Amino acid sequence: MKRPGKMIKEVLETIFKKPVTTMYPFRKAHMPDKFRGKIKFYPERCIGCKLCMRDCPSNAITIRKVGEHQFEAEIDLGKCIYCAQCVDTCPKKALESTPEFELAVLDRSKLKVKFNAPPEEDNQGSP
Ligand code: SF4
Ligand code: SF4
Repeated sequence: MKRPGKMIKEVLETIFKKPVTTMYPFRKAHMPDKFRGKIKFYPERCIGCKLCMRDCPSNAITIRKVGEHQFEAEIDLGKCIYCAQCVDTCPKKALESTPEFELAVLDRSKLKVKFNAPPEEDNQGSP
């Protein structure tokens, strides 16, 4: 147990420190670097290997071929557990974790987010 003198010193120091709690939701929250939020898909980088689908532990991501070298993605945010395994797996950096975390909706169907493929001519020679 701490001595009373030491405790009083700590209490007095704490009174003048900035609070560690934040004013969210009244002030925008800033997520730390490497925060695993909503997944973003870059269709122009995708090669359709479907490794992300294979490794996703909750079957939340679907990649579809919609043309020659054209792929679209559908991510079910209701199933996603934001583990970012798909981001780590993707050999083309076509998936990314964003800091976005305010994803609540009233209609469950709105949790299925579709990323359309770009027009064919924009998809040539992409990294
Ligand atoms: S792992 Fe990457 S490149 Fe392969 S299908 Fe998924 S998003 Fe596309
Ligand atoms: S973050 Fe995890 S759960 Fe969500 S789509 Fe990627 S691999 Fe699947």
